Amino acid sequence: MSMFDDIPVDIGIIYEGERIRGREMQVELGGPREEYKFELVQAKELDEIEDGKITIIGPDLPDINPGTNIAFGMIIDVAGAEIEKDLEGVIERRLHEYVNFIEGFMHLNQRYDIQMRLSKKSFEKGFNSLNLFAEVLFRLYKSEMNFIEKIQIAFITDPEKVKEMYPEAMEIYEARDARARGMSDDEVDVFYGCSLCQSFAPTHLCVITPQRYANCGAISWFDGRATAKVDPKGPVFEIPKGKLLDALTGEYEEVNRVIREKSLGEIERVQLYTGFGYPHTSCGCFEACAFYIPEVDGYGIVHRNYKGQTINGLDFVTISDLTAGGRQVDGFHGLGIEYMRSPKFMQADGGWDRFVWMPVDIRDRIVDYMPEDIVPKIATEGDVSTLDELKTWLKDKEHPIVERWVEEPVAEPEQAQVPQQMAQPQMPMTGFTVPSLEIPASALPIQGLPQGVAFKIILKNAKIKAEKLIIKAEKE
Ligand code: SF4
Repeated sequence: MSMFDDIPVDIGIIYEGERIRGREMQVELGGPREEYKFELVQAKELDEIEDGKITIIGPDLPDINPGTNIAFGMIIDVAGAEIEKDLEGVIERRLHEYVNFIEGFMHLNQRYDIQMRLSKKSFEKGFNSLNLFAEVLFRLYKSEMNFIEKIQIAFITDPEKVKEMYPEAMEIYEARDARARGMSDDEVDVFYGCSLCQSFAPTHLCVITPQRYANCGAISWFDGRATAKVDPKGPVFEIPKGKLLDALTGEYEEVNRVIREKSLGEIERVQLYTGFGYPHTSCGCFEACAFYIPEVDGYGIVHRNYKGQTINGLDFVTISDLTAGGRQVDGFHGLGIEYMRSPKFMQADGGWDRFVWMPVDIRDRIVDYMPEDIVPKIATEGDVSTLDELKTWLKDKEHPIVERWVEEPVAEPEQAQVPQQMAQPQMPMTGFTVPSLEIPASALPIQGLPQGVAFKIILKNAKIKAEKLIIKAEKE
């Protein structure tokens, strides 16, 4: 029985987190195989909107080959006396929640990166038109965000039309992002928290500041401010900064308190401008991910649309799995692309001077905001393809990271036998976090427990620290 009698599938929070695999899908709207896709909310005047109007440009769901993907655009116009431009980003982001409420409908990512899948099962149950999709969105938007007085939707499934409209959508996102540029975290008294992704990562909370954009890249400090005002009980709320505990890492007393409360005690502290120690958590929606490369004591960065392998041999999906889930994983740090334009970007770790590798297309998107002298020193996939090549590149380019490398000590007698190709620079190691470490009972005799009782000890987020990592060749 559906929450809405005239909608053939169920709608509800229990469907959030539902995954639809390739073999189960009727159709994929957008997704990684489609170059052009977007979702866009636009604030309009009341008289500019025909409430409840649905437009479909291109084929509707039954006309799309089952099991295939299609370019997809979705434009939602909203109006209301309290609606202002700054609300667009957050209204748009709520799509992630509302689409996932639909039984058999999955929504991933945001803006120009969306991937939506409808299951065969829901299609066969009768959820077989974009008109039904629009009806659900109308009702959810109006009931959950009651400041929306009028709403209309246009779906674009004609690939040529999506391609034509895509640059305009990108310009609108860029204009939104540009608003907070030039503002400093030091000049505001409040930040904003967003708990929208807690249904996927219960301990995750985004802390949105002027200089640290949301991980998904969809909500700015201005968006947070506008939303907290009209929807104070919603998932985006004000966080007073409180006492500054550490300016370099970006740690604030009140932010820590709110994080502890919202993560039910799982996360004790968050430092906003670092990927080590107490980094900002990552849900899974991040646009890009910084990853530590111990071999050179530097960071690489990779974005969601990068299809190849990164310099450490892992692809985005694998790095993303190591990072996501609302954990604090040393050296794996999810982030929004706009944060890469911030002067506070990873400042506690050395900022851009700590970055050694990145894909060329993400570099080109943000190059105007990177320090000029570091740009030619950061290798891309076209410059190097192995860690050895990367080391040589960094030395040749006199990348500042090289100064961090500790000189190899004079070889001791047993090390003198180490073949040349095995010798590695010894680098200061920062801690690693083990997400879950299980110790079998047999390894730990514990007094007082009755014989024969099976148990295991799980250390969550155990931190393993070593001053040095020394790799030695085994003797024959
Ligand atoms: S990534 Fe962060 S800001 Fe974006 S929707 Fe999720 S919790 Fe909110």
